[in-house]
Formats: sequence, C-alpha cells, structure tokens
Amino acid sequence: MMKRWLTAIIICTFIFSLIVNPAGARLIEGGFTPYSDTKATSTDSGIKMYKVESGDTLWSIASTYNVSLDEIMLINNMDESTVLTIGQRIEIPYSRSRVHVVGKGETMWEIADRYGVRVDKILQANTDKSPTRLRVGDRLIIPDSSYKLASTNNNSVATASTSRGVTTASSGMGWPLVGTITSPYGWRNSGFHHGLDIAGNIGDPIRAATSGTVSFVGYKSLYGNTVIIDHPNGRSTLYAHASTFHVQNGQQVGQGDIIAEVGVTGRTTGPHVHFEVRKNGNTYDPLNYLRY
Ligand SMILES: [Zn+2]
Repeated sequence: MMKRWLTAIIICTFIFSLIVNPAGARLIEGGFTPYSDTKATSTDSGIKMYKVESGDTLWSIASTYNVSLDEIMLINNMDESTVLTIGQRIEIPYSRSRVHVVGKGETMWEIADRYGVRVDKILQANTDKSPTRLRVGDRLIIPDSSYKLASTNNNSVATASTSRGVTTASSGMGWPLVGTITSPYGWRNSGFHHGLDIAGNIGDPIRAATSGTVSFVGYKSLYGNTVIIDHPNGRSTLYAHASTFHVQNGQQVGQGDIIAEVGVTGRTTGPHVHFEVRKNGNTYDPLNYLRY
C-alpha cells in the first residue's frame, strides 16, 4: 500500500514538474532558463477523474494533486463529513500555466496572491524576471494555479493536515458588492491584507455573501462600521468600512440580502467594502469562495 502511494506521489510530482517547467530544464540557482513564448501561452485547464483507492482521504488526494481541499469538495459537492468509497470517481480540477501581463503598481507578491501561486513558483517559471524589477507590460508565466490553499494561506494547510478540517463551501458565495477589486487578499507593502477590497460608491448596497446569522454590527478600529455574519458551516464573513447598517445583531440573513451600504469609515482611502472570510481565527482568500 505504502509503496503504491509512493509511486503515485512520485509520478504526480514528475508530471507536475513537467507542467511547471515544461522545458524540463534544470533550475540551477542563479541560472538562466529562457522560455519560449509558445510554451508560455498554454492556458488549458479542465477536470481529470480520479478513482478512489483504499486509504485515500480527500486531504491526501488534494495534497497529491496540489489542489486545494476546498476546491475538490466544491467541485464534487462534498464536505468534510463525506465518506469516500473505494472505486468512487472524483473530479480533480487542473489548470496549467497562464500568462499575466504586469500592470501599473503591481508587485510579484500581489500577482502571486491573486492567482494563488507561491512567489517562488512564479520565479521558477520566469527565471529571467526579478521580483524587484518588474516592469509594466512584462509577461509573467503563472504556473499551475491549483496551488491556491497551499500558497496563499499556510495556516489553512496546517489546519487541514491535522484535522482535514477545512470545510467546504457546498455552494459558492455571492459577491458582497460587484465592483473593481482594488486590493486582493495577501501580502502587500503595508503588511498582510486579510480581506478582499472591492471598490464601490458611497451608498451602494453591500450584500450577504451567503446566509447566516448576524453576529456583529458596529464600529471596529481600522475596519470602521462592520458587519459580521456567522454561517452554519462554522465560517464567518466580515464586511467593513460601511456607511450605514441595514441589519441588527442576531438577525437571520439570506444570501444577497442587503446588510449595509458602502462607506469610508475606518482606515480607508476611498469607498469600498473590505470583505473577509474567516474560520477558527484564520482568514482565507475570499476569491476561493466567491462564484465567478
Ligand atoms: Zn481591505
């Protein structure tokens, strides 16, 4: 059994290394591995089927295929209590390299966070680029994006490995506000950004991402006027910088219900909603939960 597992892991690692580094070139420290553009523009993605074997858990499969547990559960409509049966087929999402054209003011860390890829993986795929010398218009190869959890949130990996504990969103969350994302989740110059910033106009409705019970309505330093909703799966969502509130503490809300209006309260430079997804004291990248 152990042997079969090892073989599977080795094969997957090998396939994966081909995806990340299709030229098969050795990545020597300080070395230069030029990439041709044709390889860089591969954008295929899709679903592959996996047949469950004895001893498999959702966590072990996710980890083997470098896919986030949440993503696997989401696609297969499973949750942490789902019992796998031998021979059952589950869908594994995959996506290969994409190309990102660097925009004004973007850093490699922001780009990495946006795609849920580790900076070192981007560097491996773009050995001619330096994170400190990115220029507007530079084309970056974004390697396999199915890293999401592994990259953007080390805490969640630790949680998952001890308890398989990252629960699923059995259906996606709705956007609290439709607008431009002005700051993604993750590291930025001023520190770790625990939420997703979506720009709007003062007075625009902020909507509950999914149904639950309002557990906080009030002012928090930095966050300003804030609503927190607790969801039945143990997650909570937070909406900050509001102007006025439309809900009270303890109120039940449904997905899409208007809970507040966009404002500029707390520390913010312009009207937007700062949206967080939390569980057990950790924050998670909202883009992993929001429906596209
Ligand atoms: Zn924010």
